[in-house]
Amino acid sequence: MIKSGDEIRQAYLDFFESKGHLVMDSAPLIPKNDPSLLWINAGMAPFKPYFDGSLEPPKKRIATSQKCIRTNDIENVGKTARHHTYFEMLGNFSFGDYFKEEAITWAWEFVTEVLELDQDKLWITIYREDEEAFKIWHDQVGLPEERIVRMGKKENFWQIGTGPCGPCSEIHYDRGVEAGDSKEDVLGGEGDRYLEIWNLVFTQYNYTEAGEYKELPNKNIDTGMGLERVASILQETETNFETDLIKPIIDQVVEMTGIPYQQDQESVTAYRVIADHIRSASVAISDGALPSNEGRGYVIRRLIRRAARYGRKLGFKEPFLYKLVEKTAEIVKGVAPDLKKQLAHVKNVLKSEEESFLKTLEQGLNILEEMLAELEAENKEVLAGKDAFRLYDTYGFPLDLTEDIAAEAGIKVDEDGFEKEMEAQRKRAREAREETSFSSGEVEKLYAEFKAQIEEDNFTGYHSLKEKT
Ligand code: ATP
Ligand code: MG
Ligand code: MG
Ligand code: MG
Repeated sequence: MIKSGDEIRQAYLDFFESKGHLVMDSAPLIPKNDPSLLWINAGMAPFKPYFDGSLEPPKKRIATSQKCIRTNDIENVGKTARHHTYFEMLGNFSFGDYFKEEAITWAWEFVTEVLELDQDKLWITIYREDEEAFKIWHDQVGLPEERIVRMGKKENFWQIGTGPCGPCSEIHYDRGVEAGDSKEDVLGGEGDRYLEIWNLVFTQYNYTEAGEYKELPNKNIDTGMGLERVASILQETETNFETDLIKPIIDQVVEMTGIPYQQDQESVTAYRVIADHIRSASVAISDGALPSNEGRGYVIRRLIRRAARYGRKLGFKEPFLYKLVEKTAEIVKGVAPDLKKQLAHVKNVLKSEEESFLKTLEQGLNILEEMLAELEAENKEVLAGKDAFRLYDTYGFPLDLTEDIAAEAGIKVDEDGFEKEMEAQRKRAREAREETSFSSGEVEKLYAEFKAQIEEDNFTGYHSLKEKT
């Protein structure tokens, strides 16, 4: 029986190889020649030139397991059962070759016959107007009408920026009421009960810079299935975080702190965030990213700082993230073998980044916590922009970090107020420069006066010079 993450990945790639696909390695997380994208965020992303026809693919059918980073899911990490900043997307692609029929029937064959998922727990969504997809699910696969749910553009039309796009059909797994019982626990909702596992995108159009949907000369298939989510079903874990793709990292941190994983909600979240962020940061660094103050580097910095901050909640006083890299490399070796080769480099980067962060963090955190406690005592819900600015100016706290921490106490930050302080600071800096700096000509003049004065009255001292200027 297929169970481990490695087994699922292999079964998937073998299955699609048997259907005539070329199995390729994951592309690096840093996109090549694609300024529209900070990170590879889907299996199809490295293949955009094949989809829009600007490059010829090595084969018309390709299958991969692609490492992905999605920073837009950062706030979800630890909150939902299914979101990570780093995850693996299994995908099969057709570049002007097979289309909906094969994509749908093979997907069904894989989940029901290879993975042996319980058919009664599977639900399908399709794009409202996609009769073709409905017919295939209904007439060919043989699903009853009530299992095929029609959704709108927001849920079932796939599009990220410009480029290939089209209607999609998704496979969901009902994890039962125990997994979630809120009004969000419906198909396509934000809850965790109906777990979206596989998105089949029928790429029929190209969305242009001019905002037009142009029918592609050749219709394509782009699918994406989250490996961690499938693993959570087969391993019968409560969330993705207890699968063999993440749990060993959590176990190592638990060993280091002595605090049980499930001690309380706070510990659960902290362990999950740390395990998630160490995966994204270390794989990204091994792919060539480095912490910095902008763009990709800033994402890395933010991931490391967030993980370090959650580490502090678990009692860490010293850098610890670098100690998790070996375990992480072992887990991801099937998709990101380079991490093993880059261990020393990745550890060094993590260690020095965490060290420098911890220094300022400690001081700033204490002050922020005092501020928040005061607000709570006064039943106030907004941290003044002036206070957030002080943390920024004196302790190097970026606004989003202050917002993250404040949000945990249910407190918002006055962003406009922060911006006003920031502007005032810039103005002060400009004025200060004007007051204290002299053009070289002015300096020369001053020296000349100084010299003349010394010669004139045999130097009466700095005092008189000061009065003159
Ligand atoms: P969700 O609705 O759960 O946020 P999505 O619709 O944003 O998922 P897609 O863009 O359709 O996801 O990506 C294809 C597949 O990749 C999903 O069906 C899911 O299995 C997986 N996936 C997407 N985002 C994540 C994530 N942040 N962490 C783990 N797996 C993910
Ligand atoms: Mg999403
Ligand atoms: Mg979705
Ligand atoms: Mg989706």
